[in-house]
Amino acid sequence: MARELLSVLAMEHFALKPLPYGQRALEPHLGRKTVALHYEKHHAGYVKKLNELVTGKPEATESLESMIRSSEGAIFNNAAQIWNHDFYWRSMHPDGGGAPEGALNEAIVGNFGSFERLRDEFLEAGAGHFGSGWLWLVSHRDGLRITTTPDADLPLRYGENALLCADLWEHAYYLDYHNERARYLEAFFDHLTNWEFAQANWSNAAVNTPMLRRASR
Ligand code: MN
Repeated sequence: MARELLSVLAMEHFALKPLPYGQRALEPHLGRKTVALHYEKHHAGYVKKLNELVTGKPEATESLESMIRSSEGAIFNNAAQIWNHDFYWRSMHPDGGGAPEGALNEAIVGNFGSFERLRDEFLEAGAGHFGSGWLWLVSHRDGLRITTTPDADLPLRYGENALLCADLWEHAYYLDYHNERARYLEAFFDHLTNWEFAQANWSNAAVNTPMLRRASR
């Protein structure tokens, strides 16, 4: 019995993090069925697959971030998708949307010209990204920018700090918006964006990046 328990624990080195809100909490912008399938099938599937891939291997003791930095192929894809989905759920909030306040707002105006211009760039980049991937607001040494990554790829690989992300895979929006990715991204940006989460990520990045710390004063 103890041996079975140990093998189960070893199998579950990477756990599925709980959703930060209920499955209906993002309605009407993202429906319960979308969130349930996305979390319980897609996100949980990456966790299950990564555990299968690393069981009994040296990677099983690594952190998710270190695995993302050092791996390729199936291990990278599944590890990165776990990180991306954890980040995506926290990039949204039932009372999200609006605009950030304080220093992050000033940085957005400084980098994009206006908050409205940031919104335009976010929507354009998301609509223009071909196929599956992710849409990001990131900070880097010179400031803030909007970027997209294909498949499981993520800003961590390029020395950039993620502040917010939207999932561009069709499973993120197809039940609610069918092929209309632009409408999904408008709903995401206007009603779901968690600016407190972005602000916290930006503050952490600024602490770790001297140029940003100067820029944010
Ligand atoms: Mn997804």
